Amino acid sequence: TTPRPVLLISDPLPARLTAELHGDFDVRQCRGADRAALLDAVRDAEALVIRSATKVDQEVLDRAPRLRIVARAGVGLDNVDVEAATRAGVMVVNAPVSNITSVAELTVGLILSMFRNLPAAAASVRAGEWRRADFQGSELSGKSVGIVGFGRIGQLVAERLAPFEVELLTHDPFVTPEFAYAHGVAWLPLDELVATADVLTIHVPRTPATTGLIGERELALAKPTMRLVNTARGGIVDEAALARALAEDRIAGAALDVFATEPPVHSPLPHLDSVVCTPHIGAGTAEAQDRAASTVLDAVRGAFLG
Ligand code: NAD
Repeated sequence: TTPRPVLLISDPLPARLTAELHGDFDVRQCRGADRAALLDAVRDAEALVIRSATKVDQEVLDRAPRLRIVARAGVGLDNVDVEAATRAGVMVVNAPVSNITSVAELTVGLILSMFRNLPAAAASVRAGEWRRADFQGSELSGKSVGIVGFGRIGQLVAERLAPFEVELLTHDPFVTPEFAYAHGVAWLPLDELVATADVLTIHVPRTPATTGLIGERELALAKPTMRLVNTARGGIVDEAALARALAEDRIAGAALDVFATEPPVHSPLPHLDSVVCTPHIGAGTAEAQDRAASTVLDAVRGAFLG
């Protein structure tokens, strides 16, 4: 009998899923954040399964002569040197669609949170207060929602918001007006979208072209009632320009799950009353984590067992 391939798990995965691997693999575990333990454990590894804490760089690859596949149970590959892995002949797999539903649902939640002042209202009751008049909100119904980036998540957000009787608008240079229209969404140039939207929600990847996409100039076009949501990536919205626009009441509010620097220790944004911040929890659901792990483990099985 041939020995089972050595599969190293270096970040926590759902136990139910790892248990299913034992028949086919020699499963080993280590804590990837412990660099010395990782460098030692990868020596025999043929597959390495990680989440976000394990950093896979040239040094790790040099120590892992038998490694064939690195599987990131999630989306972001910020912690993997993909080029170095490719040079070393190591395949890198991830799970790019595992969490899109979670991010779309968080986006809807953040929009409603802003319209009804939910975080501040809940905090005030917890503080023993009963200030009903201070938390008058607005209905979402009848408002226009501008979706910047009509990809996987942008489309799910549109589907989920449609029953709220909003006017759905989008800007995406790689999507045709016909495609948007077929999804019940009107296509507008970015400047018009920003000028029309009551809610502007960001769903583009961060690239050199989208860094600072929503900056001083764009925010100057917005209505004073506009609320902005960013569950995509920090840096797409210029945070200094956003903080100025909020402080000067040039827009009404913002909800941010992502920041240029995380945690945003030097940012004024978390301290503004009109801002709702969450700690990059877009993918943070049991379902998304499970789906990410099972997707990449299937890929690993496929690579070794065919
Ligand atoms: P996707 O690739 O399916 O869609 C992105 C869309 O943006 C594409 O349709 C593309 O054409 C469009 N686009 C590119 N440049 C643009 C521009 N200049 N203006 C307007 N549109 C532009 O990606 P996705 O899966 O929908 O993910 C969207 C974002 O969500 C990404 O930034 C991703 O990193 C982020 N995300 C965040 C979390 C979280 O935890 N908060 C989790 C998953 C994904």
